[in-house]
Amino acid sequence: MIKPDAVANGHIGAILNDIIAGGFKIVAMKYIQLTQESAGNFYAVHKERPFYGELVGFMTSGPIVAAILEKENAVEDFRKLIGATDPSKAEEGTIRNKYAKSIEANAIHGSDSDENAEIEGNFFFSQFERF
Ligand code: GDP
Repeated sequence: MIKPDAVANGHIGAILNDIIAGGFKIVAMKYIQLTQESAGNFYAVHKERPFYGELVGFMTSGPIVAAILEKENAVEDFRKLIGATDPSKAEEGTIRNKYAKSIEANAIHGSDSDENAEIEGNFFFSQFERF
Protein backbone atom coordinates (compact mmCIF):
# COMPACT_ATOMS: atom_id res chain seq x y z
CA MET A 1 0.00 0.00 0.00
CA ILE A 2 1.31 3.43 -0.95
CA LYS A 3 0.37 5.57 2.06
CA PRO A 4 -1.33 9.01 2.05
CA ASP A 5 1.92 10.98 2.50
CA ALA A 6 3.56 9.46 -0.58
CA VAL A 7 0.38 9.90 -2.65
CA ALA A 8 0.02 13.55 -1.53
CA ASN A 9 3.69 14.25 -2.27
CA GLY A 10 3.40 12.95 -5.84
CA HIS A 11 5.45 9.77 -5.45
CA ILE A 12 3.01 7.16 -6.79
CA GLY A 13 4.75 6.87 -10.17
CA ALA A 14 8.29 6.75 -8.78
CA ILE A 15 7.34 4.15 -6.19
CA LEU A 16 5.61 1.94 -8.75
CA ASN A 17 8.72 2.21 -10.95
CA ASP A 18 10.90 1.04 -8.05
CA ILE A 19 8.53 -1.85 -7.35
CA ILE A 20 8.52 -2.99 -10.99
CA ALA A 21 12.29 -2.51 -11.29
CA GLY A 22 12.60 -4.68 -8.19
CA GLY A 23 11.08 -7.57 -10.13
CA PHE A 24 7.55 -7.47 -8.73
CA LYS A 25 4.52 -8.06 -10.91
CA ILE A 26 1.43 -5.97 -10.11
CA VAL A 27 -1.56 -8.31 -10.22
CA ALA A 28 -4.21 -5.97 -8.75
CA MET A 29 -4.27 -2.27 -7.93
CA LYS A 30 -6.75 0.38 -6.74
CA TYR A 31 -6.77 4.06 -5.70
CA ILE A 32 -9.08 4.60 -2.73
CA GLN A 33 -9.51 6.51 0.53
CA LEU A 34 -9.84 4.44 3.71
CA THR A 35 -12.56 5.17 6.25
CA GLN A 36 -11.87 5.30 10.01
CA GLU A 37 -13.50 1.90 10.25
CA SER A 38 -11.52 0.22 7.46
CA ALA A 39 -8.18 1.74 8.55
CA GLY A 40 -8.96 0.72 12.15
CA ASN A 41 -9.60 -2.85 10.99
CA PHE A 42 -6.52 -2.95 8.78
CA TYR A 43 -4.30 -1.94 11.72
CA ALA A 44 -6.28 -3.82 14.40
CA VAL A 45 -3.08 -5.69 15.42
CA HIS A 46 -1.73 -2.33 16.65
CA LYS A 47 -4.86 -1.46 18.68
CA GLU A 48 -3.01 -1.52 22.00
CA ARG A 49 -0.08 0.58 20.82
CA PRO A 50 0.01 4.25 21.89
CA PHE A 51 0.13 5.53 18.30
CA TYR A 52 -2.92 3.56 17.07
CA GLY A 53 -5.29 6.57 17.06
CA GLU A 54 -2.77 8.77 15.26
CA LEU A 55 -2.00 6.01 12.77
CA VAL A 56 -5.68 5.57 11.89
CA GLY A 57 -6.01 9.37 11.54
CA PHE A 58 -3.00 9.51 9.25
CA MET A 59 -4.10 6.53 7.12
CA THR A 60 -7.49 8.18 6.50
CA SER A 61 -6.02 11.64 5.76
CA GLY A 62 -5.96 11.14 1.98
CA PRO A 63 -6.12 8.53 -0.75
CA ILE A 64 -3.87 5.47 -0.87
CA VAL A 65 -2.89 2.96 -3.55
CA ALA A 66 -3.50 -0.68 -2.62
CA ALA A 67 -1.87 -3.40 -4.70
CA ILE A 68 -1.25 -7.11 -4.77
CA LEU A 69 2.26 -7.98 -5.93
CA GLU A 70 3.76 -11.27 -7.03
CA LYS A 71 7.36 -12.46 -6.90
CA GLU A 72 9.36 -15.41 -5.62
CA ASN A 73 10.22 -14.68 -1.98
CA ALA A 74 7.98 -11.61 -2.27
CA VAL A 75 7.46 -10.75 1.41
CA GLU A 76 11.14 -10.72 2.33
CA ASP A 77 12.25 -9.04 -0.89
CA PHE A 78 9.59 -6.35 -0.57
CA ARG A 79 10.58 -5.59 3.02
CA LYS A 80 14.14 -5.12 1.73
CA LEU A 81 12.94 -2.85 -1.09
CA ILE A 82 10.94 -0.62 1.29
CA GLY A 83 13.48 -0.43 4.13
CA ALA A 84 13.12 0.02 7.89
CA THR A 85 9.90 1.36 9.47
CA ASP A 86 11.73 4.49 10.60
CA PRO A 87 12.95 6.20 7.39
CA SER A 88 15.94 7.72 9.21
CA LYS A 89 17.11 4.11 9.70
CA ALA A 90 16.14 2.88 6.24
CA GLU A 91 19.02 1.87 3.99
CA GLU A 92 20.09 4.19 1.17
CA GLY A 93 18.07 3.60 -1.99
CA THR A 94 15.08 1.98 -0.25
CA ILE A 95 11.61 3.41 -0.86
CA ARG A 96 11.27 4.72 2.70
CA ASN A 97 14.77 6.23 2.55
CA LYS A 98 13.86 8.08 -0.65
CA TYR A 99 10.23 9.06 -0.11
CA ALA A 100 9.27 8.88 3.59
CA LYS A 101 9.25 11.73 6.08
CA SER A 102 8.68 10.15 9.51
CA ILE A 103 8.14 6.87 11.34
CA GLU A 104 4.38 7.32 10.90
CA ALA A 105 4.25 8.92 7.45
CA ASN A 106 6.59 6.30 6.03
CA ALA A 107 5.34 6.18 2.42
CA ILE A 108 4.55 2.50 2.07
CA HIS A 109 3.23 -0.64 3.73
CA GLY A 110 4.34 -4.19 2.99
CA SER A 111 2.90 -7.39 4.45
CA ASP A 112 5.16 -9.01 7.03
CA SER A 113 4.32 -12.67 6.25
CA ASP A 114 2.71 -14.79 3.53
CA GLU A 115 -0.24 -15.32 5.84
CA ASN A 116 -0.76 -11.57 6.34
CA ALA A 117 -0.26 -10.94 2.62
CA GLU A 118 -3.24 -13.19 1.97
CA ILE A 119 -5.35 -11.54 4.69
CA GLU A 120 -4.43 -8.02 3.50
CA GLY A 121 -4.97 -8.92 -0.18
CA ASN A 122 -8.44 -10.17 0.67
CA PHE A 123 -9.07 -7.01 2.69
CA PHE A 124 -8.71 -4.84 -0.43
CA PHE A 125 -9.69 -7.17 -3.29
CA SER A 126 -12.19 -9.90 -3.93
CA GLN A 127 -10.89 -12.73 -6.05
CA PHE A 128 -13.32 -12.29 -8.91
CA GLU A 129 -13.49 -8.52 -9.12
CA ARG A 130 -14.53 -7.49 -12.63
CA PHE A 131 -15.54 -4.12 -14.04
P1 GDP B 1 5.99 -1.79 9.34
O1 GDP B 1 5.65 -3.25 9.27
O2 GDP B 1 7.41 -1.49 8.93
O3 GDP B 1 4.99 -0.93 8.61
O4 GDP B 1 5.93 -1.36 10.88
P2 GDP B 1 4.94 -1.74 12.09
O5 GDP B 1 4.08 -2.92 11.72
O6 GDP B 1 5.77 -1.82 13.32
O7 GDP B 1 4.02 -0.46 12.25
C1 GDP B 1 2.93 -0.22 11.38
C2 GDP B 1 2.89 1.25 11.05
O8 GDP B 1 2.61 2.01 12.21
C3 GDP B 1 4.20 1.83 10.52
O9 GDP B 1 4.43 1.57 9.16
C4 GDP B 1 4.02 3.30 10.81
O10 GDP B 1 3.19 3.93 9.83
C5 GDP B 1 3.27 3.27 12.14
N1 GDP B 1 4.20 3.36 13.28
C6 GDP B 1 5.12 2.43 13.69
N2 GDP B 1 5.77 2.85 14.78
C7 GDP B 1 5.27 4.08 15.08
C8 GDP B 1 5.54 5.04 16.11
O11 GDP B 1 6.38 4.84 16.98
N3 GDP B 1 4.79 6.19 16.08
C9 GDP B 1 3.84 6.44 15.13
N4 GDP B 1 3.15 7.60 15.16
N5 GDP B 1 3.56 5.56 14.15
C10 GDP B 1 4.26 4.40 14.11
